[in-house]
Amino acid sequence: MIRTHIIPCQLAKEQADAFNLASGRVYTGVLISHWRVVRKKRIWLSEKAGTRWSDHRTTASLHAHSIDAAQQGFYKACRTTRALRKAGYPEAKYPHWPKKFRTTIWKNTAIKHEGQALLLSNGRGNEPITLLLPNHLGDVLRVLEVRLVYDKRARRYTWHLVVENGKQSKAALGSNVVSVDLGEVHPAVVGDEHESVMVTCRERRHEQQGHAKRLATLSRALSRKKKGSRRYKKLVRAKSRMKAKHKRVMRDMEHKVSRAIVEVAVERAANTLVIGDVRDIADEVALGKRTNQKISGWNHGKIRAYTTYKAEAEGIVVVLQEEHYTSQTCPTPSCRQRHKPRGRTYRCPSCGFQSHRDVVGQVNILSSFKYGAPGHIPTPPIIKHRMPHNLRLMRRRRDTGQALAPVARRSSGPREAAGL
Ligand SMILES: [Zn+2]
Repeated sequence: MIRTHIIPCQLAKEQADAFNLASGRVYTGVLISHWRVVRKKRIWLSEKAGTRWSDHRTTASLHAHSIDAAQQGFYKACRTTRALRKAGYPEAKYPHWPKKFRTTIWKNTAIKHEGQALLLSNGRGNEPITLLLPNHLGDVLRVLEVRLVYDKRARRYTWHLVVENGKQSKAALGSNVVSVDLGEVHPAVVGDEHESVMVTCRERRHEQQGHAKRLATLSRALSRKKKGSRRYKKLVRAKSRMKAKHKRVMRDMEHKVSRAIVEVAVERAANTLVIGDVRDIADEVALGKRTNQKISGWNHGKIRAYTTYKAEAEGIVVVLQEEHYTSQTCPTPSCRQRHKPRGRTYRCPSCGFQSHRDVVGQVNILSSFKYGAPGHIPTPPIIKHRMPHNLRLMRRRRDTGQALAPVARRSSGPREAAGL
């Protein structure tokens, strides 16, 4: 299976900058010569001709295939524009801005794998870079590509490693169908006709609100400073650092939630995972300020993407299911009345049925997939809970079998330590 791993970069900022500066120069070289030929000769150069035309602009500090990658970047962007225009977006523009920096790419021909380290070649006469692999990547089969990516928010460089880990996707354990309802308060309810598992993550709201609060405090402080001053710059840095951390925490939660979804699907012996399609939820108008704010809390696209690749590794096929009226239809087969729930509990005014709102959504998605309409499957008798991101458990000190170092009391200042 091919996977991308992001690991911290130990290169000095100047060294990393130099690489991406060189890549930016190569990219800009192609861009400039391409548009110059278009302007003067009215000829649209092919990728082959264009790269050859601009080869004299290349720099000697990169591996030949890294140079290729930067050149290909321009033509790849052209292809994207063409595809977009064909798909009905005539406003899509061809790449025309020069780039100062560009992510440097080492292709597999420039990568040598030696034990725990990768040697990244930079062309003849240049020192290769030694990149130490973290322990969990020590036994990868092949490294297909290495990218030197600047994380704008965190203001630091990271390595993106594309690796073939040699693992095969497993075969599905059974032929069950499991459905998922992605929600706002609870990230997901997963289950079939017999059992529902609510994947909860209370820390998400905590993180979201805390982040908004801290951001507001910083923005307030920032508005009182003179633009461009030392304090101003310091606060701007603090703000982007905070945003970077928030992004990391959210990403971690999204990964853990998607892992929990797939775990339940495996336990229920599924080979099909039906996900309620919430893609157009943000497009609906007049949701109101509060709801709009809530909806932005989870990145459902990411949870879906993470779930999809994790499920595929377990041999489970992911299907998107239209979720019309799945949250409103009463799941009692003799009733099937539509009713908009208020709050977290679904109460049917016609038959008195009561259940958790997200569980109703989950069985109705399953029903829509199996029978073409919601309301054909009653809610399962067993409802369980799962907390994949539990701070209290995560912070609990693991028993390593080693004696703990004595913890210093907070009040013990230097005076007390000196025996005074
Ligand atoms: Zn009912």
